[in-house]
Amino acid sequence: ADQKQAAKPKVLKVGTEPSFAPFEFQEEGSKEYTGFDMDLIRAVGKQMGYEVQIVSMGFDGLIPALESGQIDAVASGMSITEERAKKVAFSKPYYKSGLTMVIKSDNNSIKTFKDLEGKSIGVQIGTTGAEEARKIKDAKIREFNTPPEAFMELKNNGVDAVVNDLPVNEYFIAKTGAKDVKLAGEVQNAENYGIAIAKKNTELSEKVNKALDDIKANGEYEKIYMKWFNK
Ligand code: GLN
Repeated sequence: ADQKQAAKPKVLKVGTEPSFAPFEFQEEGSKEYTGFDMDLIRAVGKQMGYEVQIVSMGFDGLIPALESGQIDAVASGMSITEERAKKVAFSKPYYKSGLTMVIKSDNNSIKTFKDLEGKSIGVQIGTTGAEEARKIKDAKIREFNTPPEAFMELKNNGVDAVVNDLPVNEYFIAKTGAKDVKLAGEVQNAENYGIAIAKKNTELSEKVNKALDDIKANGEYEKIYMKWFNK
């Protein structure tokens, strides 16, 4: 009889820096990677007939890992920028984001990005937030491996502000019930997140874009969006 084994699913190795809730993180006490990006990339992989394997690494290591072939794709709240697009290909945008600041609740002197002149600013290394902070006159930039470390430093009064992605700032404040910090600043730099793929891997880029279209058409994207953002 015809008893062929089902073909083993192809594996998609996806790099992420998992301290970016609600996009990629681990619930307390769990080793599993969860979040909007994790659900999204698993849905994309499933649509393409791939098994998704998440590989955790530092944010500034993601593009080099893609270039060296260590991973196939990046799903890490990575904003599509001109600079990065010189090195890697991006899928269609899948989430619209932007930068804001987090400051101490009792700080009434920082209201706009301009108010950060001469101040010390915590950022995550290799991010658009770090780029933006570097443009501020006389600011002292302190780079951290992850946003939670930058937030911790803010709480300890080691920096005056943290510049980071708005949805991550909002989630941090809401989830930690942090009363000692607050959001500040107009949303700067409307940014779009994209899935990054090696430039030479055009076939994979096409498949990912097609899968994104498919999960938008069949309601899966909407379901994932509602699960994490409920708006
Ligand atoms: N969206 C920002 C960037 O691309 C931050 C991403 C992150 O820290 N995971 O630089």
